[in-house]
Amino acid sequence: MNSTIFKFLNILWVPSILVLSGCQPQSSDVLDVKPPLSFDAGANSNIWYQSAQDSLQADFAKFEAIQNQIGSAKNVILFVGDGMSISTITAARILDGQLRGESGEENQLSFEKFPFTGFSKTYNVDAQTPDSAGTMTAMMSGVKTDAGIVGLSEEVTRGDCASSKGTEVISALELAEIAGMATGIVTTARLTHATPAATYAHSPDRDWEDVSDMPASAIAQGCMDIADQFVHLKEKIEQEYGVSVDGIDVAMGGGRRHFLPKDAAFNSPDAVSAIEGDRTDNRDLIAEWKKLYPSGQYVMDQTGFDALTTAAQLPVLGLFNESHMRYEMDRKNDVSGEPSLSEMTAKAIQLLEAKDKNKGYFLMVEAGRIDHGHHAGSAFNALHESIELSQAVAKAQASTNPNETLIIVTSDHSHVFTMAGYPKRGNPILGKVVSVGSDQEALALDDMPYTTLGYANGRGFKDLGDETDGDLAYEHPVDQGRKDLNSINTETPGYHQEALIPLESETHSGEDVGIFATGPGAHLVSGVHEQNVIFHIMNYAANLTGKATSTLPKK
Ligand SMILES: [Zn+2]
Repeated sequence: MNSTIFKFLNILWVPSILVLSGCQPQSSDVLDVKPPLSFDAGANSNIWYQSAQDSLQADFAKFEAIQNQIGSAKNVILFVGDGMSISTITAARILDGQLRGESGEENQLSFEKFPFTGFSKTYNVDAQTPDSAGTMTAMMSGVKTDAGIVGLSEEVTRGDCASSKGTEVISALELAEIAGMATGIVTTARLTHATPAATYAHSPDRDWEDVSDMPASAIAQGCMDIADQFVHLKEKIEQEYGVSVDGIDVAMGGGRRHFLPKDAAFNSPDAVSAIEGDRTDNRDLIAEWKKLYPSGQYVMDQTGFDALTTAAQLPVLGLFNESHMRYEMDRKNDVSGEPSLSEMTAKAIQLLEAKDKNKGYFLMVEAGRIDHGHHAGSAFNALHESIELSQAVAKAQASTNPNETLIIVTSDHSHVFTMAGYPKRGNPILGKVVSVGSDQEALALDDMPYTTLGYANGRGFKDLGDETDGDLAYEHPVDQGRKDLNSINTETPGYHQEALIPLESETHSGEDVGIFATGPGAHLVSGVHEQNVIFHIMNYAANLTGKATSTLPKK
């Protein structure tokens, strides 16, 4: 042992032993040892020590803010970063800071400042590594179910309509609707995609987004496609529960193709395909929605979005793209313009807050394309989508009352996305590893440089330059393994990270994801939870089942 350290340990150790044993010092040697005046003396000038002290002081406030009564939250906003793993959050926070010229590691995304955090165990009943349908059903209904299942319990067999009878599980959004609260859905994915679908639909297969995706037997047995379930939710709830409801107040996302007939005559002005619609039953569900809600507003572009200003325009249906909405960094390429996730979030809250000041609202906001960026092997897109989610959360915080609004930010599942090597502090997060104490790119044992970010599997390396649409990776062959990155700028939008195992699409991964919460009931997220507990936290905080039950007709 180093002799200086040994002396230091002696100083700490000897007096404490004496105190513990209660005996008197015998040797004048020991008496000569002077105890330090203060263990944190001198630490005040250390920025890490002091900022941690400030952080600790700030933490005390959160315990004063705890509201432990049932129903203490008037409003609930659930943010789901689809596929937003812990490594995604870390890399996004670094990129966010670096975009402002900072080192990045010390940065915090908006929701990382929330007072309470926990972990969510994401596995499905039948799957170690889950999918978005089973996980969102868990969060929305309070029960885990199988992969691929939307709003039904594990008793159903995937793809088997007959087996779905009697397995429906009611969602937090449906309970809020019955309770007379305002309701909203915001997503950058298709409105009928697994995550948003699990807020309102019940389907034995997540892929049944419209009737053309269903087997004839399922249609004959009476199963409804997901788009149809969205448009006719109001009638369905009224029939089933004998109550009068007003339907979903705000729904914004992509996915027009599942609402329109397969007929070019129905194309929207910014249709991408020759025939935009997919429906083979000749139904125009957008027209059906307008007929059901004559005073509502259907919007499909930025101009229509911007014209939404008052609660009198509710309900609102915004379908801004034929399929998913564009990646945030690719939005400039949208033909007729489409709003960002943070713009949609702010608008939804503005309209829902204005609708009924007393009854409150339930809003689900999905950053659906973090997941798509990862699947395509584009860290650039996945991280920018995560930063946009952070901005959406910041807008939600700024426009709600923290004493009456529970805000939860979580993810449905992780991805095989890693942050590796020993890059030095401030090294560009999308760049190649430059090690601590070096100015040169670090070389692997194959004598080639390597990036900090990478994927364990997927489509692998692509160098698509300034291309901002990560999905174009699917138009290029799978290219797994190591590449010579010497002359490649890995910080460009079109760079796709290397992947070890060749797969059609990069996959989800099975480790836990984070839960971040603020507002009434937020303290309940603390701990390691099964994912379905998230429903129970929202339900307790907003008393959804209690309020819904009290509106049911008396028998
Ligand atoms: Zn996915």
